Amino acid sequence: MQTKVLIIGAGPTGLMMASQLSRFGIDYIIIDQKATITDQSKALAVQARTMEVYQQMGIAEEAVEQGMIGRAVNFVINGKRLQRINLANIGEGLSPFPYINMLEQSKNEAILNNFIEQRQNGVLWNTSLDSFTQNEDGVTATLHHKDGEELTIKADWLVGADGASSPVRKQLGMTFLGDTHEQPFFVADVQINWAFEGHELYICLDKNNFLACFPMKGERHFRLVGVVPPTLLNKEELTFEEVLVDLLPKLNFELKLDQVKWFATYKIHHRVVNNFQRGRCFLAGDAAHIHSPAGGQGMNTGLMDAYNLAWKLALVIQEKASPKLLKTYNEERLPFAQQLVNTTDTAFETIISNNPLVRFFRLNILPTGLRFATSFERTRKLAFRTVSQIAVNYRPYSLSRNGNTSSFSSKTPQAGDRFPYFPTKAGTTFDWLKGTAFQVLYFYTKEHTATLDRLSKYFDLSELEINLHLIAKSTDSAIFDDLGIKEEGLFIIRPDMYIGYRSDVVDLADIEIYFGEHLP
Ligand SMILES: Cc1cc2nc3c(=O)[nH]c(=O)nc-3n(C[C@H](O)[C@H](O)[C@H](O)COP(=O)(O)OP(=O)(O)OC[C@H]3O[C@@H](n4cnc5c(N)ncnc54)[C@H](O)[C@@H]3O)c2cc1C
Repeated sequence: MQTKVLIIGAGPTGLMMASQLSRFGIDYIIIDQKATITDQSKALAVQARTMEVYQQMGIAEEAVEQGMIGRAVNFVINGKRLQRINLANIGEGLSPFPYINMLEQSKNEAILNNFIEQRQNGVLWNTSLDSFTQNEDGVTATLHHKDGEELTIKADWLVGADGASSPVRKQLGMTFLGDTHEQPFFVADVQINWAFEGHELYICLDKNNFLACFPMKGERHFRLVGVVPPTLLNKEELTFEEVLVDLLPKLNFELKLDQVKWFATYKIHHRVVNNFQRGRCFLAGDAAHIHSPAGGQGMNTGLMDAYNLAWKLALVIQEKASPKLLKTYNEERLPFAQQLVNTTDTAFETIISNNPLVRFFRLNILPTGLRFATSFERTRKLAFRTVSQIAVNYRPYSLSRNGNTSSFSSKTPQAGDRFPYFPTKAGTTFDWLKGTAFQVLYFYTKEHTATLDRLSKYFDLSELEINLHLIAKSTDSAIFDDLGIKEEGLFIIRPDMYIGYRSDVVDLADIEIYFGEHLP
């Protein structure tokens, strides 16, 4: 068998990789050793940035319908609800999805699996990667099907989206530096009855224990997460009922368990690979970085790795870009993964640490401090921008270029930023960012016909698919204010909705340099 891209692993990351390649019409094979998509809920939080990508793919409506909005977080200390922080529409005006969508991993996987099955080829289930070799021309992988049949696949490129214990990463000999938290965690999907009203997030704390209760779609359906009590550590076949009997009195908290749908214990790691690429092989998702679930970032980051890599790989395969474009995948995603592992680890330590100072902070300062901070519009927006991943930027890296910017204001988005979302007279800024092409947005006050002619001729001749949008100040001057543009502004937006280039004049030579450097 032969293909352009062989994807190992059909978790959320691998399925997103296949989905994106199918949008570009690239031939791929995706395999997984499992029999089908996971039936375990696992990751629960779908962040706004992921929802924006889903919208570009045409699957956001399904994801909204099947999920539920995380409306508020409540802090319960020693059994009493002390603080409630409203989260509904926390990102109003910043994203078409100004909230966290509580949609479990299994449902995300089902939506993505459906997407690829309808457009191109589905997953080869029950099929495991045994080994692979690579040389300058491609990759040869040996696989076996559950029924014993052996398969050899030749591919131009290989993507290891094969999870935390990634055989691809191991075979590539990449380091996976970091550590493992000793205390095991539990997760349980349950139906409960308790005194609290509202289908909201509850964080219950006392000096040494915590229980986080995340709302899930369905009546009284919650995900409960906490540390396995030390007295139960050596117990064989631990049940969730036993965990609750130990934990609830300590938290001074009552809760009636009606049904346990899923219960698992696991250890939390924080590790990052040393490079996301080796030769013709890439790593993405948990294969490249793992960290605590604090902040609900894990699955989202894997999805965004795949989204970042797929368009670059597609253009290289279509011979519209030089293979050196692929280096920007590691350049852009590795620093973010490193930063994420550190911040989620700090957040996690704050929740579990037994250090008396941290404990005091956790019980006495954190709930009130968060409530106070989020009562200000500015801090609410900052918190949303960070957690939702819409603030992730690639400013320092080689695919971001600022031309002449002297007339732009400080609020003008920079090269390397996700293009901002806001409403316009005709719709929203995201209406310009549909499809898989580069989008060039040219904002002008006075029409320069000769310049525009040259610009559109240049883009017409390009091998790349480039759409030119002309936006006159006379039709919607508010956009100019929102983007900090005085007279003129030109933005080249990459297929992943990030600004690649910006300038306040049309400088064709500079644009040629931008495209020439990576996308000849
Ligand atoms: C109990 C639990 C709770 C979690 N809770 C959260 C949360 O609340 N929020 C959050 O953001 N994240 C959470 N996570 C993490 C989240 O599930 C992962 O970040 C996410 O699954 C990563 O997706 P992935 O596609 O990169 O890897 P995976 O989902 O692990 O998928 C990898 C796939 O590769 C396949 N595979 C492996 N080896 C081979 C092979 N040799 N051949 C073929 N196929 C292979 C596996 O079968 C698997 O399907 C949780 C994880 C667990 C386990």
